[in-house]
Amino acid sequence: MRVAGALSGLMANRTKFQAIKGTRDLLPPDTELWNRVEQTAREVFGTFGFGEIRSPIFEPTELFARSIGADTDVVGKEMYSFDDRDETSISLRPEATASVCRAYIEHGMHAWPQPLKLYYLGPMFRRERPQKGRYRQFYQIGAEVLETVQPGQGGTKDIPKDAAVDAEVIEMVMTFFARLGLEGAQLQINSIGHAAENCRRGYVQKLKAALEKVKDNLGPDSQRRIATNPLRVLDSKLESEQAIIAGLPKISEHLCEDCAMQYAEVKRQLAMRGVKYAENWRLVRGLDYYMRTTFEITAKGLGSQNAVCGGGRYDGLVELLGGLPTKGIGFAIGEDRLILSLQEAGKGGAAAGRDVFVAWMGEKAQAAAIAATQRLRTAGFRVELPPVEQKFGKALGHADKLSARYALILGEDEVATGLWTVKTLVDGSQAKMSEAEFLEKLRNEVKK
Ligand code: ATP
Ligand code: MG
Repeated sequence: MRVAGALSGLMANRTKFQAIKGTRDLLPPDTELWNRVEQTAREVFGTFGFGEIRSPIFEPTELFARSIGADTDVVGKEMYSFDDRDETSISLRPEATASVCRAYIEHGMHAWPQPLKLYYLGPMFRRERPQKGRYRQFYQIGAEVLETVQPGQGGTKDIPKDAAVDAEVIEMVMTFFARLGLEGAQLQINSIGHAAENCRRGYVQKLKAALEKVKDNLGPDSQRRIATNPLRVLDSKLESEQAIIAGLPKISEHLCEDCAMQYAEVKRQLAMRGVKYAENWRLVRGLDYYMRTTFEITAKGLGSQNAVCGGGRYDGLVELLGGLPTKGIGFAIGEDRLILSLQEAGKGGAAAGRDVFVAWMGEKAQAAAIAATQRLRTAGFRVELPPVEQKFGKALGHADKLSARYALILGEDEVATGLWTVKTLVDGSQAKMSEAEFLEKLRNEVKK
């Protein structure tokens, strides 16, 4: 019914469509940078032994509710959920970790070589207030390492191994950022312990009690979070709350022995890999399933939306979703913000341009121009072939507009002699050469 209504509305007036609030079109030349970023991710992650997973963009709502947590903003307020025609509730994915875990269980990946290393990239959807670096459709590049605990394994003796895995995952993100030339990336780490009385649960009780005492001086969001998600108060950005938060009990003083040992080992492992970090005891992740190692990376040029990557350990999530006891660690990079930061630093790259503009004149020259274009494109060069004949002046103007490097001028003369006229557009110089010579010149001078 609603579709039919929208259709008849359409015919009645000539609506000018716009992209839905919080979504946007990515256009050339920006998309060149997007592709470079994604290509670099594939290369770098490949060198660390990660394979790509492409999971669906929508999943059962229940998958996210159970894994991310019904009390979180993401599930409570930000998901795009709707009833399918058979009335099951489905949601556009707000993140991909839950999907990766679902796929791990569904495909019996515990039987694949362990630990299993997967990466993904693609759009995520959250109904947030749009602003710079915050969109309703945004893109993440992420990775997960999953390892099902074998009988007789796990516990304290696995701590050095887990810590090394955590450190290598963090090292991989930092390597990726360095490869892109991202400047000023700063890594912050923390441990949020695990859900036990002698660890995080005990700490959260103390934190709650301390927050109750200062409740009247907190803003409404933090007041609400005392009951629903007290850890989240710690990452409040509200100026008036900063001094109060500084005086709250710190989780590092309440970690159990194993979690403390794991945290110390992660720091030692990062140092061995030459990865620089700062500790931040207020770093908690927004999603319920994290434990122990948590980290965030900030970048420059982004204003208050400066987190480009968030990640952490989530042992137990796969089991929560119906799988075997399995450890997990992963991260998600905000690709939109990464791109913004690269562009702010002037790493955006120029417009695509063309290597060659084929200015052909006369009927005979068209066939030669088509053949020449085909061979130049086969050799990998970017070639513009005007569909109709243009006057010389107009052709050169056109070539200029497209930022072409060379104009290949093909007239009756060139066709007859087999010698091409090549004009270098930056300096206006012109020379005659054979096709082989021109190809040689392109190979030497054009970076592919
Ligand atoms: P933030 O605190 O900025 O809302 P978050 O804790 O919700 O981030 P995660 O769920 O950990 O973020 O997602 C990882 C990364 O994805 C973030 O660090 C950020 O770069 C990016 N991201 C999250 N939400 C958005 C959004 N609405 N628009 C653009 N990027 C986003
Ligand atoms: Mg958020």
